[in-house]
Amino acid sequence: MNYDLAIIGAGPGGYIAAIRASQLGLKVVMFEAWPTLGGTCLNVGCIPSKTLLHASELYMQFLEEAASLNLDTPAFDLASQQQKKAAIVTGLSDAIVQLFKKHNIDVVTARAEVVGPNQVKADGKVYEAKNILLAAGSQPIGLPFLPFDEKKIISSTGALSLEKVPKSMIVVGGGVIGVEMASVYSRLGSDVTVVEMMPTICAGVDTQLAGMLLASLEKQKISFMLNVQVLAGRDLGNKGVELKIRQVDGRELDIQAEVVLVAIGRSPRSQDLGVAKLNIDTTPRGAVVVDKNFRTTIPTIYAIGDLINGPMLAHRASYEGAAVAEIIAGKQPKVEYIHIPNVIYTSPELATVGLSEDEARELKRPILIGKCAFRGNPRARTAEDTDGLVKVVADKKTERILGLHILSSYASEMIEVGVVALYKRMSLAELGDLPFAHPTYSEAIKEACLHALHRSYHL
Ligand code: FAD
Repeated sequence: MNYDLAIIGAGPGGYIAAIRASQLGLKVVMFEAWPTLGGTCLNVGCIPSKTLLHASELYMQFLEEAASLNLDTPAFDLASQQQKKAAIVTGLSDAIVQLFKKHNIDVVTARAEVVGPNQVKADGKVYEAKNILLAAGSQPIGLPFLPFDEKKIISSTGALSLEKVPKSMIVVGGGVIGVEMASVYSRLGSDVTVVEMMPTICAGVDTQLAGMLLASLEKQKISFMLNVQVLAGRDLGNKGVELKIRQVDGRELDIQAEVVLVAIGRSPRSQDLGVAKLNIDTTPRGAVVVDKNFRTTIPTIYAIGDLINGPMLAHRASYEGAAVAEIIAGKQPKVEYIHIPNVIYTSPELATVGLSEDEARELKRPILIGKCAFRGNPRARTAEDTDGLVKVVADKKTERILGLHILSSYASEMIEVGVVALYKRMSLAELGDLPFAHPTYSEAIKEACLHALHRSYHL
């Protein structure tokens, strides 16, 4: 065998697995179909979306402050922001190339498939490895009656590379990607409507915070049509795209926009990996089935990240990638999912980790709830940025923290406190009695913990 580990897919799952395996003394080869490393996250996901979210938010803030600061009204040049975004992506991707060189990881730039328990085929050549890791990620799901052309009927990939702001946009799907991209284009002046089949946006997150986020986004002039089913769609040529929708009362309606973004989810990219030919088990939606050590039905072949069941998140893929490398090297890493955070990068941001109030009530688990709204937080008051709330969920008997849920401009940076609290099995008092720097948004976490114990200072 030439290699200890062959990896298919250089996304955040695969490339972290490669580096960790190399640190542990394994010889690694990476197969990547795209010309650049970094996968969906770096090329057409987390990084480009956050670049556009950041630029559009700065623009919106500038517009809001222009009059009071006596500045000329600024203009947003989407084409030049796209160039800036591309440079950021290239810089980060090049950094992975350098890391691979440092760790002596071989790279084969080609589409690859598994052809045996220890064989990967790429570019007509068969490579041998003691272990194989499938980290091929996921792809956007389209509507059968409205195939992507990435111009007027776009996936998230198309939404990240528009050169011109459309006058109007319908976003099908009010999940994370839907509300993030709706935010970008609404801030840039598009008339954005989000249509969602559920009664709320961002299904699965704390319903109170999701409701507050919805109200904030509506204040930012994004329209929402909830409980709505998209029945059909057609391309109207240079007049845009038309969708036929059914509302909750059964009434049908036609709505039009220049561009339709379909953000209804992603499916595991397992179809051209060779798994079917090797009889590796997959679920009906194409997720590769693995055991608790990420082994597929062939013990030398592992799978992680978006390709398997679970939340489609970059840091989850990386966490699993590092764990697989350690398992192959003979270690026994502790993999727990309860402390994997989830962030929606809207304004305000919504970040959650652990058990939500809704889940605890469904499980009939006795809990304590503590809350702190940002309208009472001094730092948020200095910035006149008081939308949002911290909610902590704890076990009623032990007072151990089970979940933290934050709606705030800085929620993505604050949520790691909850990750540590959950990982270290901290109680409300252990977190709430710690000194938090003043004035900070994070003091709301302390205050929420103390609130759950009926001893908050400011509520
Ligand atoms: P991927 O990143 O999808 O990488 C898979 C790689 O495998 C790709 O490079 C692909 O080219 C390669 N590949 C596939 N098949 C083959 C083959 N046969 N041969 C060779 N190579 C192959 N997650 C977050 O945590 N935070 C965010 O803010 C966030 N924002 C997102 C925004 C958008 C618009 C999108 C689309 C996703 C976002 N995600 C975010 C999700 C995140 O990008 C994914 O969860 C993550 O990239 C999954 O990592 P992965 O390593 O499993 O697969």
